[in-house]
Amino acid sequence: MTDILLRGRVLTFHDEPLAGEASSETYTYIEDGALLIRNGKIVMMDDYSVLRTDAGRDAEVMDHRPHLIVPGFIDCHIHYPQMQVVGSYAGALLEWLNKYTFVEEQKFANQGHPERIASIFFDELIRHGTTTAAAYCTVHKASVQAFFTEAHKRNMRMIAGKVMMDRNAPPGLLDTPQSGYDDTKALIDEWHGQGRQLYAITPRFAPTSTPEQLEMSGALLREFPELHVQTHLGENLAEIAFVRELFPWSRDYTHVYEHYGLLGPKTLLGHCIHLTDAEIAAIAGSRSVAVFCPTSNLFIGSGLFDLDRLQKSNVRNAIATDIGGGTSYSMLRTLDEGYKILNIQGQRYHPLRSFYQATLGNARALSLEGVVGSFTPGAEADCVVLDARATSALRVRMETVETLIEELMLLQTMGDDRSVVEVYVAGKASKSALD
Ligand SMILES: [Zn+2]
Repeated sequence: MTDILLRGRVLTFHDEPLAGEASSETYTYIEDGALLIRNGKIVMMDDYSVLRTDAGRDAEVMDHRPHLIVPGFIDCHIHYPQMQVVGSYAGALLEWLNKYTFVEEQKFANQGHPERIASIFFDELIRHGTTTAAAYCTVHKASVQAFFTEAHKRNMRMIAGKVMMDRNAPPGLLDTPQSGYDDTKALIDEWHGQGRQLYAITPRFAPTSTPEQLEMSGALLREFPELHVQTHLGENLAEIAFVRELFPWSRDYTHVYEHYGLLGPKTLLGHCIHLTDAEIAAIAGSRSVAVFCPTSNLFIGSGLFDLDRLQKSNVRNAIATDIGGGTSYSMLRTLDEGYKILNIQGQRYHPLRSFYQATLGNARALSLEGVVGSFTPGAEADCVVLDARATSALRVRMETVETLIEELMLLQTMGDDRSVVEVYVAGKASKSALD
């Protein structure tokens, strides 16, 4: 396989740029830089002139100047079966679920539907520069088969799982504690570690699982402690009241997951908006990850994610689209809405920090640092090429942009899939191959 040299303005992060004026030690930016890629992995990143005359002299050059090359975006919470509910008119979470989402997800029992949606879903991720995601499938085993088959075919690094839910949903969406366990186990055997695929134990959320099912979910995690767990937590006040009714013995919502052994360093908790101090302490203590879903939180009217409060308590965090409660596949649009949610609470979200979050930050949240999310040697070569002059409105604004930081701020404020010029998946040009 021929080596590839991606030439452009390369940017990668080493750590979270927490301070207001982010320190240059947290990232590397090379104006005329290049990435040397061999067998789908990053060999090194350096000045183009250095790589061209040395290690990369025989490589095929892909010249993306003057564009910016960053690691592929990572989306830490997305529902692939919800492509056809985006933008549904609903009051709040429980209405949105019952009226639209639970109706839509039943279609995944129909022959051919999961395969069709999975194929369109991955096209859409690539179009928007997202190369890794933690995804929910439906309760149906076939939805997971379709998802992983398509991801594997495209050689994309994905985390996904069969939703387990055995109450408070239409009969067509219910499994049982035993069938949920058996199906999950069979899917783990078939898919976990198959190429770039990783399995996540996926109890949808406490309201749709019986204590017996949560018990079985905990048992799965004890059997497969290397797996991710993904679920929802503290999104909406009516949801929280419902959990209190269903689990009257529990101290709070978080305690339900804690009780069944579902918290831990690979547990992804979608939303985490309405939490008590005791819950935050439990999440921090377990090293679980709070996943910020800004477009969804605004669209469904769930509330404002309090990043400062969580970070002060040492809660690990991630950012995500949460399609179909979320309204855009674009991590750029997601960063923009995240900025607004934090800004309205008087919190700062420096553009270096948001680009860190969509790449290395989310890789760390998924325990995948060194695998994806950066250009560190040995990492998988998932890259996004960004054009901050992709539209006429961007072009005129760029006339007054002088620094990289201003350019990042503009990309996240006005950018979308039109700014994504090319996407490399394990070193393979994938966006240009779509059309
Ligand atoms: Zn969700």
